[in-house]
Amino acid sequence: MTTEAPTALLSIAGSDPAGGAGIQADLKTCTALGVYGAAAITCVTVQNSQGVRYFEPLEQQLVYDQIRAVLVDLPISHIKIGMLGSAGVADAVADALYDFTGVLVYDPVLNAGDGHTLFPAAALQRLADDLLSKITVITPNLPELATLDRLPQPPKQLPPLPAGIPADSPLTAAGRLLLRFSQLQAVALTGGHAEPPSDDLEDWLLTRGNGREFQLTRVEHPRLKSGNLHGTGCTFATALAACHLLTGDYQQAMRRAVDFTSAAIKAGAGLPMGDGNGPLAHHLVNRQPCRGRRN
Ligand code: PLP
Repeated sequence: MTTEAPTALLSIAGSDPAGGAGIQADLKTCTALGVYGAAAITCVTVQNSQGVRYFEPLEQQLVYDQIRAVLVDLPISHIKIGMLGSAGVADAVADALYDFTGVLVYDPVLNAGDGHTLFPAAALQRLADDLLSKITVITPNLPELATLDRLPQPPKQLPPLPAGIPADSPLTAAGRLLLRFSQLQAVALTGGHAEPPSDDLEDWLLTRGNGREFQLTRVEHPRLKSGNLHGTGCTFATALAACHLLTGDYQQAMRRAVDFTSAAIKAGAGLPMGDGNGPLAHHLVNRQPCRGRRN
């Protein structure tokens, strides 16, 4: 029996009524990994496997109050932030986190898989000023990394990257993020969007290392073939936060989060859940046979 006080994870994200992404994916991920999950909703989206039709960000006060209600009551050690939807919501989230000292994992959801804009490009600078300065771990996909890297940079000298990393590698852009945002401890990059597409993927975790040079963790795995990939980014970011809650170590959390996400993709491949880009199957990972109650 553990003597440590239990802690919990809060997801701050949008709602996907079809259950594939956002809050719904985050809570399923927490439950499958054995972590208590709480949820504060930023936006309500109207979508299914065929795409996002439209969404409404919630009132700033409502977002702020949900987060405060959880933080003043539950032992939240980790927060995962996903879709924010508007600059106003991003401000409300940043305000509500004023005294939070735990781990903040941010999945910068800028566009849906079908291309629908989920955060206005014009508000990115405000996002960087208000929220990104508080974030501990960021999990951009490659297009999101490129967008964040285009924000004006302070003129600082980049510490050395591990040997053999070319200057135009996404890792160099990840290093610039670590340099720019002082609270940021790690950038996790998943290879799903790598060009040209290859059969084997490498996911990367770049951490601050010893302060003088960055440390790189590589996790190799085969590219999984599935038509059901909606919510992969949400699932990975929440798994990374949940596994860090469980292990206290970013490298271990990265390996476990990649394994969990791969298992959920594998379990969901071929699942007839909508005619479009369907969800992962968090509920089928580690499934124990159900022993019906005997009378
Ligand atoms: N969060 C919400 C509420 C969404 O609607 C979406 C995409 O539609 C995402 C996050 C991002 O989903 P994905 O993990 O597939 O990039």
